[in-house]
Amino acid sequence: MLESAIESLPLMQYIIGMKGEPTKADMMQYLTCWLCKGVYRDAHTINECMCTYCKGCIYKYFTENATRYKCPSCHSELGGKPLEYVVRDQILQNIVDSLIPDFKERDDKLKSILLKRLNEKRIQKGTYKPPVSIQKQTQSVNNTTTTENTLSQNSSGKQNVNIVDIEFKLVPLNDEDVNLRMPELPKKLKISQKNKTILTVKKHINKLIQEAIDNIEILCKNFPVADSHSLEYIRKTKWQNNSKTMVLQYKRKRKIVGNNRQDI
Ligand SMILES: [Zn+2]
Ligand SMILES: [Zn+2]
Repeated sequence: MLESAIESLPLMQYIIGMKGEPTKADMMQYLTCWLCKGVYRDAHTINECMCTYCKGCIYKYFTENATRYKCPSCHSELGGKPLEYVVRDQILQNIVDSLIPDFKERDDKLKSILLKRLNEKRIQKGTYKPPVSIQKQTQSVNNTTTTENTLSQNSSGKQNVNIVDIEFKLVPLNDEDVNLRMPELPKKLKISQKNKTILTVKKHINKLIQEAIDNIEILCKNFPVADSHSLEYIRKTKWQNNSKTMVLQYKRKRKIVGNNRQDI
């Protein structure tokens, strides 16, 4: 289906006619946004002139200057409401996604990393504002939107379990056995959805300091917690101190082989 979609594009027919099989490079030059010079992100086409841009690029172009009423690349007149001609172009976007299969994935990952970093900075500065959906719920009870209020609001269990963030610290446990101690993480403070599990926390530690997930033990108030438990569950059952940032400790697991305890 995709191949026939590609071949139905006039430009592709042109390329095929000229050089036989189109190369990836041939295709890429027709999948590039004229405004940002990158491959399309959420391709949107102006249905008057059939020029395509990233959604973000073309919306920004027309909204940041209300006197713009022509297609930026071919200058077709689009009247007073140019955005009415802009429509999502799923076929083109599918072609981009199939030529660069991990592009969207990498793009999404990058976005979420940047957002996380930004939020961490905002929390440090005290300017963090939760996403609009959370703000609305918080405001309906209390007219403030500070992190502290949002978090204590979470603990009352009134909010949607899937969308609310939880703030916690990850600190290495100073086990009496030196071999079980693990290094500090580059960043202690973490924000995560409260339904995320301890296994997710282990994966995070594994990524940062390359300790095998099976070797990591997470504890709360010195008590080991299970992989399957969510952060919210641990806060309610083990931490029980809703006013403060939850502290989770981590250390290397002591491996038990037969009847003999053995360190790793
Ligand atoms: Zn663009
Ligand atoms: Zn155009």
